[in-house]
Formats: sequence, structure tokens, C-alpha cells
Amino acid sequence: MPEPSRQAQLLSSSVFRRQACDKLGPECRLFRAPGRVNLIGEHTDYNQGLVMPVAINRYTYAGAVPARAGEIHLESREFEDIYTAKLEMLQPEKGWGNYLLGMAAGLQQRGYKLRGTRLYVQSEIPFGAGLSSSAALEISSGLAMLGIAQTWPHQGMDMVWAAHFAEHHFVGALTGIMDQFIATFGRKEHALMLDCRSLEWEPVPLPAECELVICNTGVRHALAASAYNQRRHECQLGVEHFQRRLPEVQSLRDVTWNDFLRWQTDLPDAVMRRCRHIISENRRVEEARRAFQQHDLSRLSELFSASHRSLRDDYEVSCPELDAMVEAAAQAPGFIAGRMTGGGFGGCTVNLVYRAQVSRFIASVSAAYRSQMNHIPEIWAVESADGGGELALVNDQELLIRAAT
Ligand code: ADP
Ligand code: MG
Repeated sequence: MPEPSRQAQLLSSSVFRRQACDKLGPECRLFRAPGRVNLIGEHTDYNQGLVMPVAINRYTYAGAVPARAGEIHLESREFEDIYTAKLEMLQPEKGWGNYLLGMAAGLQQRGYKLRGTRLYVQSEIPFGAGLSSSAALEISSGLAMLGIAQTWPHQGMDMVWAAHFAEHHFVGALTGIMDQFIATFGRKEHALMLDCRSLEWEPVPLPAECELVICNTGVRHALAASAYNQRRHECQLGVEHFQRRLPEVQSLRDVTWNDFLRWQTDLPDAVMRRCRHIISENRRVEEARRAFQQHDLSRLSELFSASHRSLRDDYEVSCPELDAMVEAAAQAPGFIAGRMTGGGFGGCTVNLVYRAQVSRFIASVSAAYRSQMNHIPEIWAVESADGGGELALVNDQELLIRAAT
């Protein structure tokens, strides 16, 4: 696969419009979808549990124009491969194009009539860092294909399921729905608490004095994929164990804390700890919602720390770099709450930081992490954002003229 070239470069939407217009011509329309960071609720999504992601102001942009009938043509600023495919015969191929080919197939399968589209995509979201560049790519380009077909999502969940289809059947990644969901439904100044079983969700207001700061360890340990499958398997063993005692249990979501305490004794140690993480993490998400609603920042601090410890000791998906970053943040000025975020074995930590002290926080974490790990981390202060939509230039300003939902 070609190396990503100018990946994760921050651009204003107007610069991207200019680049897209250079590529596709002046009639080009512009769509975007945000990356995300998960505040709390880690590894709970595939256990039918609770998560609390926030959409962030780092976007993937898709420029689009009509193309020859029945054809899609895909280019990315980040990769050299170019794809051309017939809408009536979409097949998985190799490389990044699968996210979009799968998205087109997923939308058609849900009854949307697409038209020939030429797409040019570009991203400010680093790949594979746990900020979900893939869902932002799927949702931005899915909206672009619908926009060119003179239609729009009848319901936001169509985007989510089409993108989920792309990941499962074209990319081959057995993901949950959190990433696609937040890229579609995200809401500025809010996190969304999503119940991955019922798909009910609610906006959770973020405190105005808090900024979100993401610290990237820059590492991705090779263990990640096999450990992920192993954790899924161990959770399944846990489900079978509790099912034998409580026949109504379908997933770890159905096991209450009291059930866990009562029936955990004869579980193998590793499986017991995996279950303890998932069941306690669901409770922490509920508690975090309450703490956000009551503006209880010290409770949030405890909950984030408890989540990190549980991921480190019970679920065993942290690594020395993530632990060092969390410790560096906890000592830094302005720190409120922090923990690892995403699947683990590298990637990022997420922190709530007093807005007025963000620069000092970043300088302090950067220095402490560097002296311990001999590596200067990338650190981004980000804002919460709305979900995907179409942009238009109005009085020299790029405005979101149509939201996905
Ligand atoms: P994450 O979603 O956490 O960033 P993934 O491995 O799920 O990590 O998705 C990253 C992949 O998505 C990249 O390797 C690439 O194939 C694809 N991708 C994301 N953004 C773009 C883009 N702008 N252009 C082409 N491919 C992209
Ligand atoms: Mg992804």
C-alpha cells in the first residue's frame, strides 16, 4: 500500500474546496463528516453496552461532481490508487477504495438510487489513531453520493448501517456502530450517550469551561488485532457462563453488578476480569452521564481514572505508552480527567482540561512524556462538532447548509 503522504494536515474548509475544485472543476460540491473521540465506555459497544463518543472538529471532506451514468470514480489526496467501478456491479477490491465502494453498495442495498459520481476525498484525521478516520470517510462520501443523486438520508440510521455494511463486507473489519453513529449524529457542545443494544441515545452537555485534549502516543502495537479477537472470545465465554445460571442473559449487558458478584466465583480468572471490566464500565458510563448533567467534575475525574485502571488491569488493553501519557496528564496544570481511549495497545488518550490552561497542559504533558518515553507526542486540543453534512460558500464563509440528520 502506498504511504499516506500529507496525512492529517489541518486545512480550513475553504482550502479544501479550492483543492477539490482544482481536481473536479468549479461545479464541485463539498461534504464532510467528523472524526470522534470516545469519552467513556470502552470495549462495551460489541457487548451491547453503553458508549459516550463526541464528534470532533477534525474532518474528512468529500468533493463530488456527477460522472458518467452508472459509474463511480474515487480519488484520495492521501493515496495514489484510483478506483473506477460500475454501481450495478460493486465488488470488494484492495485498499482504501473499499470504504467507499462498500458505502455505495450499502446505500443501494437500503434502497437508495445512486448516480454516476466522481469523488475526491481528503482528511485531517490521522489514520488508525483511534479517532475514526474510516467512519468519517464513509459518512462524508456516502452523503456526497446521495447529494449528487439528488437525494438525502431518509433517516440517519441508513448512513450508519450502510457504513457498517462497508466495514463488514468490503473492508473486512467487524466493527460495532459507534463510529458511524457519531459521525452521522454528532452534536456540537455535546457528547452522545448511545445504548448499543436498543440504539436509543441522548445528548449529554459538555461543561463550557472544559476543552477536549487528545494525546497521541504515536504507537500501534502489533498485538492489537489478535488481542481484540481474543477479548471478544473471552466475553463470549463470560456470556455462556452467566447464561447457565441466568437463562435470560444474551450479552454481558444483561448481567447486573449483583449477578456478577454472585456468580463470578468459578469463572477462570482472565474471563472474570474481562467481565468485570465490561459490567463496571457500563455503570461508569451511566454515572458519567449523571456527573456531566450535574456538572460534577471531580466525579468525572474519578470515573475516567477508574475506567483507565479497569482497561489496564482487568481488560489488559493498555500499554506502557498509554499509561505514561495518562500519568503525565494527571500531573499537568489544568487537568480534570483523562484515560486511554479507543481499542488500546497504542493510539490516544482523551483528557478534559480547563480551557484557560490548555497551553500549559500541552507543554507539560509533552515534556513529561518526552522525558519518559523519548518521543515527542502529537497533542491536539479539539472542539466538539456536529455530525456530517453538505457545506456551501455563503458570503465567503463555509457553512453547513444541510446536516445528515
Ligand atoms: P481509524 O478509523 O481508527 O482511523 P481504520 O483502520 O479503521 O482506523 O481506518 C483507517 C483507514 O481508512 C486508512 O488506512 C485508509 O484505508 C482509510 N482512510 C481514511 N481516511 C482516508 C482518506 N482520506 N483517503 C483514503 N483512505 C482513507
Ligand atoms: Mg475505523
